[in-house]
Amino acid sequence: MTTAMIDLRSDTVTKPSAAMRRAMAEAEVGDDVLDGDPTTRKLEERTAEILGQEAAIFFPSGSMANQAAIWALGERGTELYVHEDSHIVNLEMGGASALAGMQIRLIRGAPRVTRETLMSAMRSPGRDFPRATLLSIENTHNGSGGMVTPLAELSALFAAGRSVGCKILLDGARLWNASAATGTNPADFAATADATMVSFSKGLGAPVGAALAGSKAVMKAAAEARKRFGGGMRQSGIIAAGALYGLENNFARLGEDHAHAQKFAAIVSESKNARVVKPESNIVMIDLPEGTDAMSFAKAAMERGVRVSVWTATRVRSVMHLDVSLEQVERAAMVLRDLLI
Ligand SMILES: *Cc1c(COP(=O)(O)O)cnc(C)c1O
Repeated sequence: MTTAMIDLRSDTVTKPSAAMRRAMAEAEVGDDVLDGDPTTRKLEERTAEILGQEAAIFFPSGSMANQAAIWALGERGTELYVHEDSHIVNLEMGGASALAGMQIRLIRGAPRVTRETLMSAMRSPGRDFPRATLLSIENTHNGSGGMVTPLAELSALFAAGRSVGCKILLDGARLWNASAATGTNPADFAATADATMVSFSKGLGAPVGAALAGSKAVMKAAAEARKRFGGGMRQSGIIAAGALYGLENNFARLGEDHAHAQKFAAIVSESKNARVVKPESNIVMIDLPEGTDAMSFAKAAMERGVRVSVWTATRVRSVMHLDVSLEQVERAAMVLRDLLI
């Protein structure tokens, strides 16, 4: 066996293509902290245009963009409503409390936020309760396996949040996938929120970067937070060019990753031992049979040339992306299926 490892741990493992690297190498640059970087401006303008917002600003990561939005939209000593399996809760080092001084109130209940679970988290303002000033929902929702919240439902959830005084952060690290899965224009999703975070380093295949989009006023506050957090970048056009290339060239192909996820799930499901969560976008979650722990399963898969990520003790995650072909996806699925027999 001489075949290369098929890495399905995440859509962040993609490497910039030759054409993307060329765009980066040739990018026109300036000092973005001093007096502006032209390629970064171009990316920000294009992102704002695609999201139908007044402005957008470039960030080194989605986590920093989320944290800047929390800083800009939330109030110290008040609550942030967010799903218990969200990136903000699990993977941002407690930033909402450490940086913005917000208390997190979890929206409990798998697999993603629904009207019922949001209603049970929300409390009406009282003399003793902290007020809530921010609601954030992911679309697609990573922790649930890339589930999509359709526009009408998302809009209703956000309206419920606004009715109790919340501002809205749409965590759209994979908004591009939500758009590809539903046919909804990303601008229609962004129109429901005060700030929308999008990532360039996931499905779009850029090496670095994310953006936040919203009104000029909110972006001004977020840009202040970005600088305060140490996110001022100088000749950022080098990486902005990669992001811009991904946006212009790789957005339209995301449907392929979704079709690959369907194919992958169908093959793994041929084993009756596994429970495969039916994919709605590019992520496939597999709940392992009793007695199989995720760590040893992932190790066994790796020994057979396939990398998946350990999501919980009994669940592994596989993510389709532009660096894996249909043939590789099928081969990887067969490896997992055969391990589950
Ligand atoms: C990846 C991700 C982020 C953070 O993006 P980074 O660039 O990795 O910091 C935020 N939210 C969700 C839902 C994500 O999947």
